[in-house]
Amino acid sequence: MVGTMADISSLRSRVSGPVLTPTDEGFTDEVFSWNTSVVNTPDVVVGAAAASDVLEAVFFARDNGLSVAVQSTGHGGVAVTGGLLITTSRLNIVAIDAGTRIATIGAGVRWGQVVAAAAEHGLAPIAGSSATVGVVGYLLGGGLGPLSRSHGFSSDYARGFTVVTPDGRVVEATADTSPDLFWALRGGRFGLGIVTGVRVELVELATLYGGALLFDGDDIEQALRAWVDYTATTDPQVSTSAAITRLPDIPQVPEPLRGHTLLSVRFAYPGDVETGARLAAPLREIAPVYLDVLDEMPAAAIAMIHNDPPDPGPGWTSGRLLTSIDQRFVDVLLAHVGVNKQTPLLGVEVRQQGSATAVDVPEGSAVGGRSGNFTLMVIGVPDPSLFETVVPGAANALFGSLAAWISPENTINFAEHSPDGAAVSWSPEQQARLNEVRDRYTQSLV
Ligand SMILES: Cc1cc2nc3c(=O)[nH]c(=O)nc-3n(C[C@H](O)[C@H](O)[C@H](O)COP(=O)(O)OP(=O)(O)OC[C@H]3O[C@@H](n4cnc5c(N)ncnc54)[C@H](O)[C@@H]3O)c2cc1C
Repeated sequence: MVGTMADISSLRSRVSGPVLTPTDEGFTDEVFSWNTSVVNTPDVVVGAAAASDVLEAVFFARDNGLSVAVQSTGHGGVAVTGGLLITTSRLNIVAIDAGTRIATIGAGVRWGQVVAAAAEHGLAPIAGSSATVGVVGYLLGGGLGPLSRSHGFSSDYARGFTVVTPDGRVVEATADTSPDLFWALRGGRFGLGIVTGVRVELVELATLYGGALLFDGDDIEQALRAWVDYTATTDPQVSTSAAITRLPDIPQVPEPLRGHTLLSVRFAYPGDVETGARLAAPLREIAPVYLDVLDEMPAAAIAMIHNDPPDPGPGWTSGRLLTSIDQRFVDVLLAHVGVNKQTPLLGVEVRQQGSATAVDVPEGSAVGGRSGNFTLMVIGVPDPSLFETVVPGAANALFGSLAAWISPENTINFAEHSPDGAAVSWSPEQQARLNEVRDRYTQSLV
């Protein structure tokens, strides 16, 4: 039950951003989710324009018995029903200290903004595959990006979070101050308060050898089988993944790709072009290459490696961790999503992990799934009428057939639509410690 209009007016007078209820103009835009199949229907939304707005919103929720949720971009795919929603898109400042290589990032910032700001100094964040994903939501889940094998989970580079707790405290969580909360925020995702800003360490990286090799229809099986063999000896500094995507025959898709089913073998090596080209050479031989967009690239263009869709739209994804892959895995995968199969799965992606992702930070973190050697992600066709049963049915049939390769663990950023995702994304020891931290700091706020 939302507070009275007098309460709402009073809240409006105390915050600098908008405070909107469902009948107010601008409400629909304020609660808009990047995943347009998700419709948020909170009782009230506070568009935080300053960290103090978050505090006021939290006090208001507490005084009126409202639950509190937070949205940065809406990539997370979970609808907010009732209660108070805090949107963070106005907390959009990025400041780079080139001397210390620290980026100070507001809670509403997306990775693309940090990548661009850091590149002006020859630096780069260890970002995710998509420029439009929010930094904070992503980091709270650990984060596996295009440089995961060379650099590890993105949250390994977090150096401090500013968090508002339900009792109205502003906590600076770092390795030295509130280290237990800092441990939890690096991968523990839920129930840890509302982050208003984060500081991440950047790496020196102006260019990398990266991009993708695309293989068309009939060549996909040969290329995929050879990529699987390649992963047995991938250089520890190389991150690679393979994605089968059915590109629709629509004008928005560029002409050479339109209407094709393609295998995209992605590659990222954060070093010199000669070594990168040498390490990628075997992949250029695995089958006839339909399109070669793998070369030296500015670090600022890193989102081009995965080429995730830049615009909002309806989305359904689900992911698992894999312990291993082999030729039998390919047989099963292609039986479900091979070129000539009818499937409501638009894409299936396997990313190799391991190397740096397997090693925790010296002080420890709540990141789950470090033992996984591959991630598997499936993406449904963008038709919300199929999201209820058809797409999940096809995804679950695939996961069921791949049970022999699926890890008992998951990592939370890839666990969407995984019924036991939250339960298996952390070890029992991590779960126990997370619960203890949550109880102490937040009493399940977010
Ligand atoms: C196209 C696409 C590409 C992706 N690529 C990758 C990838 O390469 N690697 C990877 O690891 N993951 C990836 N993901 C998963 C992504 O990291 C998660 O969905 C993440 O939670 C999205 O965060 P967001 O802030 O953009 O989304 P939101 O929906 O705004 O937030 C998601 C959740 O994060 C929490 N949250 C957000 N902001 C705050 C805050 N200020 N304080 C407290 N909690 C907060 C809340 O629980 C919220 O429900 C991808 C997702 C998509 C849709």
